[in-house]
Amino acid sequence: MCEKKQDVIEAAIERLQKGNQNFVETEKNNGDVSQMVRTKNVEEGQKPYAVVVTCSDSRVPPEHIFSAGIGELFVIRTAGNVIGDFELGSIEYAVGHLGTTVVLVMGHNHCGAVAAAMQGHGHGHINAILEEIQPAIEGEENVGKCENLNIDNSIKRILQSETINSLINAGSVKVLGGKYNLESGAVEFFM
Ligand SMILES: [Zn+2]
Repeated sequence: MCEKKQDVIEAAIERLQKGNQNFVETEKNNGDVSQMVRTKNVEEGQKPYAVVVTCSDSRVPPEHIFSAGIGELFVIRTAGNVIGDFELGSIEYAVGHLGTTVVLVMGHNHCGAVAAAMQGHGHGHINAILEEIQPAIEGEENVGKCENLNIDNSIKRILQSETINSLINAGSVKVLGGKYNLESGAVEFFM
C-alpha cells in the first residue's frame, strides 16, 4: 500500500473529526462560503476531501456537522442513508473522477426510516426504502442496533461496486461508518 495515499486518507478522517469537534464546541459552522472559495472551486474544479452518505433528515446537515464550506464534502442523502444505483454511481464519480479518498456512511439516532422499517410497511415509494433496510435488521429489536446494522448494510452495498473495491484494494480509498447524535451534535466514527 502506498504510504502517501494512506496519509491522505488519515488526514481526511482527521479533518472530519476536527470539523465535528469544532461544530460541537462552537455550535457554528465555520466553513468557508466566501465569494473567493466559490470562484476558486469553479476555476480550479472541485476537490472534495470526503464523500458523506447520510440521511435526508433535516436535523442531519453534513456541512454544518463537519464545519465544512463550499467544495469540501461530496454529499449523498436519502431517507435512511440507503444505497441504490444512483447513489452508488455518485460515489463512484467522486472517488473515481474527483479523487476523493474517504467515504463516510453516517447514520444517526432517532432515524425515522429505520424505525419505520422496524414497524412494517409504509406507503408508495417509501416501501422501496423500507424493503432495503428490513433484511439488514431482521430479528433485531433494539433501535440503536438496527440503526448500526443499517449503516453496515449501506457499506456492504458500496463494497459491491467493482470500481470502489479496486480503489480500496489499491489503498486509494477508505469506506467507514459513523453515527451522528442528534442531541449532542457529535459523530461517533466506526473505525
Ligand atoms: Zn434518518
